[in-house]
Amino acid sequence: DYPLLSKFIVVCAVSGGGLLAYADATHPMVYMLWHHPRGKQEKKVVVLGTGWAGTSFLKKLNNPSYDVQVISPRNYFAFTPLLPSVTCGTVEARSIVEPVRNIVRKKNVDISFWEAECFKIDAENKKVYCRCNQNTNMNGKEEFVVDYDYLVIAMGARPNTFNTPGVMEYCNFLKEVEDAQKIRRTVIDNFEKASLPNLSDEERKRILHFVVVGGGPTGVEFAAELHDFVNEDLVKLYPAAKDFVKITLLEAADHILNMFDKRITGFAEEKFKRDGIDVKLGSMVVKVSDKEISTKVRGNGETTSIPYGMVVWSTGIGTRPVIRDFMKQIGQTNRRALATDEWLRVEGCNNVYALGDCATINQRKVMEDISAIFKKADKDNSGTLTVKEFQEVIDDICERYPQVELYLKNKKMRDIVDMLKEAKGDVAKESIELNINEFKTALSEVDSQMKNLPATAQVASQQGTYLANCFNRMEEAEKNPEGPLRFRGEGRHRFRPFRYKHLGQFAPLGGEQTAAQLPGDWVSIGHSSQWLWYSVYASKQVSWRTRALVVSDWTRRFIFGRDSSGI
Ligand code: FAD
Repeated sequence: DYPLLSKFIVVCAVSGGGLLAYADATHPMVYMLWHHPRGKQEKKVVVLGTGWAGTSFLKKLNNPSYDVQVISPRNYFAFTPLLPSVTCGTVEARSIVEPVRNIVRKKNVDISFWEAECFKIDAENKKVYCRCNQNTNMNGKEEFVVDYDYLVIAMGARPNTFNTPGVMEYCNFLKEVEDAQKIRRTVIDNFEKASLPNLSDEERKRILHFVVVGGGPTGVEFAAELHDFVNEDLVKLYPAAKDFVKITLLEAADHILNMFDKRITGFAEEKFKRDGIDVKLGSMVVKVSDKEISTKVRGNGETTSIPYGMVVWSTGIGTRPVIRDFMKQIGQTNRRALATDEWLRVEGCNNVYALGDCATINQRKVMEDISAIFKKADKDNSGTLTVKEFQEVIDDICERYPQVELYLKNKKMRDIVDMLKEAKGDVAKESIELNINEFKTALSEVDSQMKNLPATAQVASQQGTYLANCFNRMEEAEKNPEGPLRFRGEGRHRFRPFRYKHLGQFAPLGGEQTAAQLPGDWVSIGHSSQWLWYSVYASKQVSWRTRALVVSDWTRRFIFGRDSSGI
């Protein structure tokens, strides 16, 4: 009925399409918006990161009502607990990685993957800004924008150098697969270099001095792996190097493996001493140059410079710049990680979730809840509880906050509880009263340790699974906003809050011996735990392909030893 109007519409559509096609070819930002129109009613979920948290989220997500876009600079998942084994060729790098596209190849959920790095999150406009991976032939210059309805941030963390001069330039890290491969090449290169003629003994000694900074589980496992590699394989191939090679482990605290039971710490320190690994406790690294590492001894402040051939820096994790910028944007400064509530929702944002190493559950809320639990138990408002009531409160807190439980297990907390009990007399008498405030003061003293769940694969993958289950039931929950009857009392959210279940932790110590600290404070050290370690790590592999590869690598190592080509 309106021929002119319809012609006008056709002309607009054609020229609009032409313009978009032109823009498509010329501007990658438009490319994304044009190629991924919000046609269907699907909610857009953007996942940043394909590590432990991101991958377990993707594996468990099975609700077809989402359009999922995954963005990560690496197109594979890496089984990080086996990275120390990659450094010495016990396990090949290829055996511990699984392509993301294999993982997300699901029939019922629409998942796309972009190999790129997110450099800015704009929570106000629900957009993430990305840059193509430096490795692609686009030269890292191409940028694009993706919009979302829900954002899942699972970008992990980066190594923490504590701004120590020279660390970035001269140290090796052990965080990514490439790092492990680089260490492997460097170890072999150093043995080859030390075998060259015309070198002084002093120089050979320096080249074959391997220094590990950080006595946490990663540093200790790497030192143990390297010791085995040198003694079981390399000394046979480089017999002249035997008298020059040395491994030193530097730890700023009083003991290595601080987060483990003291029986494990003691055993590890003794074993390293027997193995000839030089453990220097109370040694803080203050500077690294191309050939020397300078340390300051805690206590007397004495500074020493140690010549080295290779340093591996493993002192914990820090915040990625993009996360730090985002935290500034949403008013979360002075933190290491993004603060979330117990439902993993980033505080101060809508529909943004954070999990894994880049997130932490907000401490203020934890302390408020702990106070409320004490208040409820203190019926007569006297500020004290009996030992029995106190124990019940602690059990309740531990169930809600596993980080406190982990923490109660560590020596310092046990000492505090003992001290409180002793202060009040005979523990056996249930009528003895314990002062709530004394305990709360004690808890806040160790506040900083309570702040975070441990930055482990276990936490990250449980959080990913938890969040995927929430997303799977989101639609159902929206239709029934009151949620299941049993949660209505809490009145805060339609899903049960995240609860971490600690399944124990391992510390491989070399020589086919491992220390295991399992739930219930059960400690096992030795060869049997090593077999437990083999079975747990084989079973935890992300696919049958990597499981088969890892087991065959272990078998190859048993029969033929480790490969010493460094490739
Ligand atoms: P990650 O697994 O680090 O994943 C982060 C993801 O984000 C990666 O895919 C990365 O490519 C991606 N990403 C990075 N930057 C961007 C960006 N700008 N945009 C988009 N994506 C980005 N834990 C244990 O429980 N047991 C162990 O035995 C153990 N051993 C370990 C040994 C080593 C050597 C290391 C390094 C760690 C070990 N951990 C262990 C810790 C465990 O690996 C981490 O806690 C876990 O990887 C955290 O998972 P995540 O998903 O938060 O981060």
